[in-house]
Amino acid sequence: MTIDRSLVGNRSYWQETTDLNAPSVPLPARAAHVVVGGGIVGSATAYYLAKQGHDVVLIERMHPAHGATGRNGGFIGTGAAEGYIGSMQRLGKKAAQHIHELTILNARLARELITVEGIDAHFREPGTLNLSISAQDHAEAAASIAARTADGYAGELLDRAAVQSMVNTPLGEEIVGAAYFPGHALIHSGRLVRGIVDAAVRHGAKLCIATVERIEQRDGHPVVVTDKGNVLTQSVVLGLNAWSRQIAPALNGIITPVRGQILNTAPTKPVFAQGMGTDLTPTGEYWQQTLDGSIVLGGMRAAATNRDENLYDIGITDEVQNALDTVLPRLFPALKDLPITRRWAGLMGFTPDYVPVVDAMPDMPGVWAAGGFCGSGMPFGIMAGKYLAQAAVEMKTPAEVAPLSLNRPTLKK
Ligand SMILES: Cc1cc2nc3c(=O)[nH]c(=O)nc-3n(C[C@H](O)[C@H](O)[C@H](O)COP(=O)(O)OP(=O)(O)OC[C@H]3O[C@@H](n4cnc5c(N)ncnc54)[C@H](O)[C@@H]3O)c2cc1C
Repeated sequence: MTIDRSLVGNRSYWQETTDLNAPSVPLPARAAHVVVGGGIVGSATAYYLAKQGHDVVLIERMHPAHGATGRNGGFIGTGAAEGYIGSMQRLGKKAAQHIHELTILNARLARELITVEGIDAHFREPGTLNLSISAQDHAEAAASIAARTADGYAGELLDRAAVQSMVNTPLGEEIVGAAYFPGHALIHSGRLVRGIVDAAVRHGAKLCIATVERIEQRDGHPVVVTDKGNVLTQSVVLGLNAWSRQIAPALNGIITPVRGQILNTAPTKPVFAQGMGTDLTPTGEYWQQTLDGSIVLGGMRAAATNRDENLYDIGITDEVQNALDTVLPRLFPALKDLPITRRWAGLMGFTPDYVPVVDAMPDMPGVWAAGGFCGSGMPFGIMAGKYLAQAAVEMKTPAEVAPLSLNRPTLKK
């Protein structure tokens, strides 16, 4: 079926329901620190720098939350993108657990930042349900929960009746049960980023709208070259995720852009309190019901040619959107007639080992970058911002983020 493009506009639900035109100022010629990218990483880095009294300029080319953060599913979970068992197998227990702990720290920092700065970002922590749709799925869910709980992390295996008691619509026949992760958070991504940028500005950060073209070096210091002028600085933090390789050549072949697509339904009665996920396809599907009752649902990349990998196009496609249309009717037959009111896409950044990068850039003195969150950046973004702010001040990558370094063994080409 040809998808109705009049629903698109290429703006997400989060972007359409937030005023993202945060006040900006002209680019200064000098700043102690420059942060590039107005997503979760850039806004959090600027926030932590400004809060500690440092002079910082946040440069974004469009408006805050224009990138993946403003187009995502609004989940803040814990754990690595590949899942608990998958990351243990790939990285070894020590590194995998270290990364898991970083995401738990991120959850605490997110709660603190939102509370301390009074950000009304519809933050709630109802947990997530990952639905099993076959016996094999459920056996894998059981193994994952067993591994997590053995290491002291929360998780519960639910049978079909328990899932039905949490979901306010009849379950489709395929649903066997679920893995439940208590405490995982849901958020309004636009309101979150706007709130963090406003807090950074209140603490003294400057927001400048400009496109960074490249970073040069002058007398041992980075110069950020933009379409609105140049900024001489001591340190630069790049929060560019999918676009990282355009400015930091060392990330070429390390962070690859991948498109994710989403639809949004009209508001309906409360059905889902938890964040929801399943694996109808190998690339997964996820959805949440927002506080106005509409459902934001994404995934189904497997329906796309080449899984929508390695492209910079944020247009939607019929193949993925048609596949997204089938998810709710298949799993919850009573929701089959929910009207679709919006469709959009965004760009994620993927690394070969499914672990993000937070590190100094080789051959670019004074420049750090974070990205490559593999579709799961919200469990890392605020923590990354905190450690990147520390790196920018101390001119040294904090040891805490060593498992996210460019030199980790699983990233060697
Ligand atoms: C469809 C979709 C669904 C997702 N769902 C989830 C989810 O539910 N939970 C989760 O954890 N993760 C999810 N993710 C991933 C998550 O959103 C990202 O990992 C995270 O938002 C990355 O944040 P960031 O700050 O690094 O990058 P971004 O949010 O992409 O920000 C980068 C910013 O840099 C700006 N920029 C780019 N180039 C330049 C330049 N040259 N000069 C100046 N500015 C520039 C862009 O405009 C953009 O605002 C999803 C992603 C997508 C696309």
